[in-house]
Amino acid sequence: MSLTEHHLNDSELELFFADQSNIDDNSRAAALIKQQSDRVNGWPRLIRNLDTYSRIQKDVVNVKGIDIVVTLNETRAPSITAKTFESKQLNSQPCILCNLDAEQKGILTLENRFIVLANPGITIPGDLTIASVNHDPQLIANSFEDMVSLSKTLTDYSIFYNGAMAGASSPHFHFQAGLKNTLIAEQQIDQLLNGSPVGNAEIILLHENKTGRLFFLNNYLRAAYLVVSSDYQVINRLFREFYLHLKQVDRFIKDIPNVPDFGARIISMNINETEPRMNLMLKYIQETAKYLLVIFPKVFNRPAAYFKTGTEQLIVGMAIKESLGNLITVREADYEHLKTDPSLITKIYSDTSIPPEMIEELNKSLKMK
Ligand SMILES: [Zn+2]
Repeated sequence: MSLTEHHLNDSELELFFADQSNIDDNSRAAALIKQQSDRVNGWPRLIRNLDTYSRIQKDVVNVKGIDIVVTLNETRAPSITAKTFESKQLNSQPCILCNLDAEQKGILTLENRFIVLANPGITIPGDLTIASVNHDPQLIANSFEDMVSLSKTLTDYSIFYNGAMAGASSPHFHFQAGLKNTLIAEQQIDQLLNGSPVGNAEIILLHENKTGRLFFLNNYLRAAYLVVSSDYQVINRLFREFYLHLKQVDRFIKDIPNVPDFGARIISMNINETEPRMNLMLKYIQETAKYLLVIFPKVFNRPAAYFKTGTEQLIVGMAIKESLGNLITVREADYEHLKTDPSLITKIYSDTSIPPEMIEELNKSLKMK
């Protein structure tokens, strides 16, 4: 069955719309989640995971003045433990996004080029996976404009992207989405943009013109850059420029223990790495008619502790949800360690984010442009 055959049209979703008079992709996505969670007609894997999710454990840890949410969430185990981009051999498993379960349904969007699905790995209920209907590689260069279009279409959501070597769990091109402002760092970033303090974090303006602004967040546990503009063409252009500057700086990712050198072969995609390593969040804010793009440049998704053994090991994968302040563990011991030792949290962020010398290079080139 092709991906497009998993599409549910508006009449098939009829029972699940909250308001029949106002149907758009936001209400379709909400209706889809209800349909997929329905105990009679829904998707069994999502229903099982919703039951598991009801037992989630959660705590807020203050790390150098910055609040981080630590969770024990077994529904995310397949993503957290996925070794899609770490394997030394070509994966012989069938692609999970090309081979959906029979009951797994979605809605087609952007001229039927993408299918919106319920994400079975639940960080916050309502999470979506937005997959290309074709098995295209996980590369953002030709799809960033689609990300911008999705943010304008799915205005109830923040749109997420994980680069192949920065935490994606499938080589099949996909975004994720989550209901806006539900992750703690989204709220902190809004506070910083509004001039309210968040720990010792500083918001530094690197570049400004009539139509767009680029900021760097300093003292925020991980490197983060914000791009704000009301013009989608400006967002596109600033992202493209950032991408090229970061790609230059990523040449410094080499000879780091357990971290693949930048530019090496990506076996699961059968290509050499060409894209800078990053996690992205993009949302369209209707109240101000502005886009907000947040870029987290990464060294890798696995911190040093992942490669340790015994009680020193932490099974974590640092991708966009983690960049947005939501740490996901799937073992009780990892949860307890992170909850009680903020220095471990500092370390896993600094291991996976670009280090100060790369930040300095990047900021220098961004300021000159
Ligand atoms: Zn596929």
